[in-house]
Amino acid sequence: AKNLFQKLDISLTDKQIPALFRRHPKLMEGLLDPETRIVRIRFNGEKRYYEISTKNIDGRGGTQGRIKTVRDVTETYKLNEDLKRQAMTDELSGLGNRRAFLQIGQKRMLESEEKGGAVHLLMMDLDYFKNVNDQFGHPMGDRVIQGFGEILKGAFPRGNLIARVGGEEFAALLSGLGDDEVRSDAETVRKSMEKYDFCYRQKKFHITVSIGIARKDFLGQTLDKLMRMADQALYQSKERGRNCVTVYEGPVNLSNKE
Ligand code: GH3
Ligand code: MG
Ligand code: MG
Repeated sequence: AKNLFQKLDISLTDKQIPALFRRHPKLMEGLLDPETRIVRIRFNGEKRYYEISTKNIDGRGGTQGRIKTVRDVTETYKLNEDLKRQAMTDELSGLGNRRAFLQIGQKRMLESEEKGGAVHLLMMDLDYFKNVNDQFGHPMGDRVIQGFGEILKGAFPRGNLIARVGGEEFAALLSGLGDDEVRSDAETVRKSMEKYDFCYRQKKFHITVSIGIARKDFLGQTLDKLMRMADQALYQSKERGRNCVTVYEGPVNLSNKE
């Protein structure tokens, strides 16, 4: 107990419990709760987790008292959080992975239904990426993916959902921005990639990205639908010669194309 409470700077003196835990009201609250509960405490810049459980002491005339057990479950919880984070992160780029994108994206779509506000989706695919692998090898391809990840992290404020959703495909779900703003952000990303110097054996080379944009237009529109729209726009960017941004303007009839 001494060790456990030391971590919260509580020294066990003969003071009464409320006095001991005065600086940790959450812990006190947990102790007063008859149910088992997990209490999270941020102390000295560190998150710690405590499980507080109760055993009633029954006697004549009902419960005579309670034994409270405080267990430090910080390590278990942190491990849990790490595992959750790992399951949602793409190791190579440090962005969210496809699972994170779909899970969190669906939540954001629902939030926008309730609160209103624009939602835009950018789908991005590196151009002629296969050539990088073929000419310079797979590790160099990996570095290009990392480089583009850095560009994306720099282009959008934290809190936006940015993910690597496929091999060299990326998605960004942006909330609360106007059409022009989104378009200009996409252009910024495109130009940053175009200018980004990659280096192989002291020789610079450049890689470009094609982008498709779609906007959530009506209530009930799903993430899946939005992804298909943005994908179509992306496909048009590829058709137009790559290294460009296309905004989805309604379905294209591919059979009518030359
Ligand atoms: P396009 O301009 O039409 O998009 O051409 P592309 O060559 O980029 O398209 P394609 O889909 O044919 O090639 C994607 C390549 O990405 C194929 C695959 O080998 C490579 N790739 C997928 N995941 C990874 C990865 O994690 N690392 C590396 N280095 N390459 C990857
Ligand atoms: Mg590609
Ligand atoms: Mg691709």
